[in-house]
Amino acid sequence: MNSAATEKPAAFLDRDGVINYDDGYIGTRERFRWIPGVVPAIRRLNQAGYLVFIFSNQSGVARGMFSENAVRQLHDWLRGELAKQSARIDDIRYCPHHKDGIVADYIRDCDCRKPKPGMLLDLMRAWPVQRAGSFVVGDKLTDIAAAEAAGLPGYLFSGDDLASFVDRILDEMSQRR
Ligand SMILES: [Mg+2]
Ligand SMILES: [Zn+2]
Repeated sequence: MNSAATEKPAAFLDRDGVINYDDGYIGTRERFRWIPGVVPAIRRLNQAGYLVFIFSNQSGVARGMFSENAVRQLHDWLRGELAKQSARIDDIRYCPHHKDGIVADYIRDCDCRKPKPGMLLDLMRAWPVQRAGSFVVGDKLTDIAAAEAAGLPGYLFSGDDLASFVDRILDEMSQRR
C-alpha cells in the first residue's frame, strides 16, 4: 500500500468556542461546558473517514493561570468523555505561549499561536492528511487566518449546534468533489 492510499481528509477544530463554551481561560473540567452537538459532529466526521484534531491557543499557561499539566489532564479527560460516546479525537495541539506572559518558560512570540498556522502545519506533518476535503472550524477570525495561512478553508462557527454546522460543511465538501 502506498502512503497516498492511507491519506485522509482532516477536520481541525478550535477548542474554546467550538468544543466548549469560551468562558475565558478554561483550565479545569469543572469550568468546562460542552457546546451542543459535539458528540454527533465528531462521530459523523469519524464515520465520514476524517481525521479529527483540536488545535487551541492556551495562553493561560504563559499567564500563570493554570499549568501545562492541567491542560494535558483536561485534554485527556475530554478525549475520554468523547471516546465513551464513540466519538474519536485523533490528536490535539495547543499553544501555551504568550509574548506578554509571566511564566518564564512560556514567554515567547512563537510560531504556533493563532493566527499563525504552526499547529495546523505540525498536525499535517505528523499525520497523513489529504488536503482535499480538509477544513478548519473556529469561532474567531484568528482561527480563519490560521486556516488561510495553512492553505485550508476556514469556517466561522457561531456557537449554536456543532452537529448541524459540520453536516453543512460535509455536504458542501461532497458537492465539490
Ligand atoms: Mg475559540
Ligand atoms: Zn506557541
